[in-house]
Amino acid sequence: MPAAFDALVIGTGQAGPALAARLAGAGRRVAIVERAAFGGTCVNDGCTPTKTLIASAYAAHLARRAAEYGIQAGEVRVDMKRVKARKDAVVAGSTRGVEKWMRGTKGVTVFQGHASFVNENSVVVNGETLTASQIFINVGGRPLIPKMPGLDAVPYLTNQSMMDLDFVPEHLLVVGGSYIGLEFGQMLRRFGSKVTVVEMGPRLVGREDEDVSQALREILEAEGIQVRTGAECLAVEKDGAGVSIGLGCHEGAPRERGSHLLLAVGRAPNTDDLGLAAAGIKTDARGYVEVDAALRTTNPGVWALGDCNGKGAFTHTAWNDYEIVADNLLSSAGRKWTDRIPAYALYTDPPLGRVGMSEAEIKKAGIKALVGKRPMTRVARAVEKGETRGFLKIHVEEGSKRILGAALLGMSADEVVHSLIDAVYARTPYTEFQRRVRIHPNVSELLPTVMEDLKPLAP
Ligand SMILES: Cc1cc2nc3c(=O)[nH]c(=O)nc-3n(C[C@H](O)[C@H](O)[C@H](O)COP(=O)(O)OP(=O)(O)OC[C@H]3O[C@@H](n4cnc5c(N)ncnc54)[C@H](O)[C@@H]3O)c2cc1C
Repeated sequence: MPAAFDALVIGTGQAGPALAARLAGAGRRVAIVERAAFGGTCVNDGCTPTKTLIASAYAAHLARRAAEYGIQAGEVRVDMKRVKARKDAVVAGSTRGVEKWMRGTKGVTVFQGHASFVNENSVVVNGETLTASQIFINVGGRPLIPKMPGLDAVPYLTNQSMMDLDFVPEHLLVVGGSYIGLEFGQMLRRFGSKVTVVEMGPRLVGREDEDVSQALREILEAEGIQVRTGAECLAVEKDGAGVSIGLGCHEGAPRERGSHLLLAVGRAPNTDDLGLAAAGIKTDARGYVEVDAALRTTNPGVWALGDCNGKGAFTHTAWNDYEIVADNLLSSAGRKWTDRIPAYALYTDPPLGRVGMSEAEIKKAGIKALVGKRPMTRVARAVEKGETRGFLKIHVEEGSKRILGAALLGMSADEVVHSLIDAVYARTPYTEFQRRVRIHPNVSELLPTVMEDLKPLAP
C-alpha cells in the first residue's frame, strides 16, 4: 500500500524545504525526500563553503598587504586544516539547520534516500512507494565532467571534492575560466598555490562584456595567476606525481604541468536517474526539465524548481521559483519566472555585481542605449580603503531613460548592485534615480555620477 501525501518534494535544495514548510503550514500533508546532505549544493558545496573559504583567502591577502596600510603583520602562513575546519563549522550549522527545520515542521515527513518516479504521481524511495497529486522536483545539479582525452587516467578535483582540501596544492590547474573556476583560482592563489586558469574560449567569463573579462584577467594576473585562453584542444595525462595538460593554444607553451587539476566547466542537472519518462516529464537535450512560465512540467501535477529547470543557476533564482509556485498554488497569484530580471554576483575580489542587460545583449536587441563608466580609482570610498581595482558601468535606454543593466566590478559591488536591481525592476528613469540622496562615503553614492556622463553605446 503506497504512502499517500497531498504534496511530495524531491530534494532539499534552496526551493524544496521552504515550499514543504509553506504547504504544510497551509494544512497539506507533505513528504520531502533527500538522498544526500540536507540543504543541497548551496549549503554543502556551493555558496556557503566557497564564500566562507573566500573570506579566509581575503584575510590572507589583506594580511600580506598590511604594510600598505602602515601595519606590521609579520609573515603570513596559511593553515589549511584550520581554514577547512572554519568552513566545515559554518556548513555544519547550515545543513543541521535545514534538517532540524524539516524534521520539526508539523505536517512534513522526511524520507532519506533516492527518489525515482514509477508513474505519473508516485515515486519510490528505498523500496517504498510514495504518492501525491502534486509533486515538486528540486533535485539541483552536479559538476559536469567533460569528455576530455586522458581524463579517465588522472585524478581530478571538482567543486565537491575541493571541500575536503586540507592542504595547499603546489600548482592548481583550473580548467574553466568562468564563475566557479575564477572564485577557486583566486582563493587558492591567495592560500599560496601557483594557479593556472585554462579556458577554452577566447576570454574569461565569456558571458560578460569584453571590458569585464579583460579587467578580471588583469586583476587575476596581477596576483600572479597565469591565464591561458583559447585552449581549444584540451587533453590531460599523468606526469610524475602531478598532471600535465595539453592546451593547443595559439600562443604560449603547448602544455602546462601542475600538481592538481580542478574541473570547473559547468553543471549538469540531476535528472538522468529520476525516472522522468515514467511520469511523462520531458527534458531538453541537456537534461533540464521543460517547464512553462509557472514552472509546471509536461506532467500537469509536477513542477520543477531550481537549477534542474535551467531557468536560473543561483540560490536566489531557486528561492524565487519556490515563491512563484507557492504563491500560485496557495493564492492564485499568477506569478511567472519570466518576470525575473537577471541579477547575480561573481565573488572574486573585487566582486562583480550584475543586473539586467549586458552591452552585448543591448546591441543584439537593437536598443538605442547610452553607457556611463567610471573607474574605481575615482570612487572615494575605494581610494580610502585601498581597493581601487575595477569599474562601474551602467546602461540606460536613450528614449525612456530607463536603466537597462549594469556591470559593477569593484569593492562591495555584490551589495551595491542591489540599488540598481530595485531601479531596473521599478523601471526607474535614471534622471529620477539621480535625485535620491545617498550616504557618503560609499560606492553607491557614485552610481548617479556614473550616469552624468553618458555616451552612446558604440555599435
Ligand atoms: C561552487 C559553487 C558556488 C556557488 N556559489 C553561488 C553563489 O555564491 N550564489 C548563488 O546564488 N549560487 C551559487 N551557486 C549555485 C547554487 O548553489 C545553486 O543554484 C543552488 O544550490 C540552487 O540549487 P537547487 O535548489 O536547484 O538544488 P540543490 O541545492 O543542488 O539541491 C538539490 C538537492 O536534491 C537532492 N537530490 C537530487 N536528486 C535526488 C533524488 N533523486 N532523490 C532525492 N534527493 C535528490 C540533492 O542531494 C540535493 O540535496 C554555486 C554553485 C557552486 C557549485
